[in-house]
Amino acid sequence: MTKEELMRKAIELSKENIENGGGPFGAVIATKEGEIVATGVNRVTSSCDPTAHAEVSAIRAAAAKLGTFNLSGYEIYTSCEPCPMCLGAIYWARLDKMYYGNNKTDAKDIGFDDSFIYDELELKPENRKLPSEILLHNEALTAFKAWAAKEDKIEY
Ligand SMILES: [Zn+2]
Repeated sequence: MTKEELMRKAIELSKENIENGGGPFGAVIATKEGEIVATGVNRVTSSCDPTAHAEVSAIRAAAAKLGTFNLSGYEIYTSCEPCPMCLGAIYWARLDKMYYGNNKTDAKDIGFDDSFIYDELELKPENRKLPSEILLHNEALTAFKAWAAKEDKIEY
């Protein structure tokens, strides 16, 4: 499939998902040659899962299908510019390229505003809306020391 056909598929999924009770978001993960590996739609309300955005759903499906946590060599087509969580997931999945249809402003215009998270990321933790504090730092570090010392770990 061409890039346009793959994006059209993501858009089609985003439209179908409205009829299925989900948000208007769809994503496709494909090889560079244009073969679809997996798709995802937004299932936040239907799955009672606040992390079930289209991109995360597609990444989970692709990784499970391919049996790897590393999706380098693959590309993602998403019907909308990703939120910070999904953008992070796309980086963690090591996808090679992202294509998006709608942008953040389009999403904001219909009530899906994630700009506050992007704004929060610019602030120091103590200035964010989410109260946070360091607790039991030394005890938590014992897990990191155990990881650092482990010789047969799978690096990722
Ligand atoms: Zn997202």
